[in-house]
Amino acid sequence: MIQQIYPVPHHNYSYEINKDFHFAAAHYIPHQDTGRCQSMHGHTYFTNITIVGETLNHTGFLVDFKEIKDLIHKRFDHGVMNEDIAFSNVCPNTFPTTEIVARTIYELVQEYLDGFSHSPRCIQVYLRETPSSYCVYRPKENIDENTSN
Ligand SMILES: [Zn+2]
Repeated sequence: MIQQIYPVPHHNYSYEINKDFHFAAAHYIPHQDTGRCQSMHGHTYFTNITIVGETLNHTGFLVDFKEIKDLIHKRFDHGVMNEDIAFSNVCPNTFPTTEIVARTIYELVQEYLDGFSHSPRCIQVYLRETPSSYCVYRPKENIDENTSN
């Protein structure tokens, strides 16, 4: 794993964990305005997921690091993202661009976290698509909730 410097989201939660992993996947952006991105090609995506909370579970975890990785890695690694149900070739809001893949990772992680009674929250997904390009996705509700005081 390459060492990377991540932007730090502000929050007032007591616990913050970060999980790094990478996955290899193919995609294309199905719009004529995206130039060469219209052709199928692949990336090794580097992901950093930030999860926060106030209380731990019965095993002393905020969440199990491995389960967070498995949730995303098992779904997308060595796949074609355009073929995943999360994405489409019709609606621009679900094209597998870096921004939308980052948002989708957030949605999948938060949906998983919603199953826990101790309320862990995903507050940032950092997704590097190439050595020179990355996206940070932060859900809006968390910005208001814990940084205003
Ligand atoms: Zn690409």
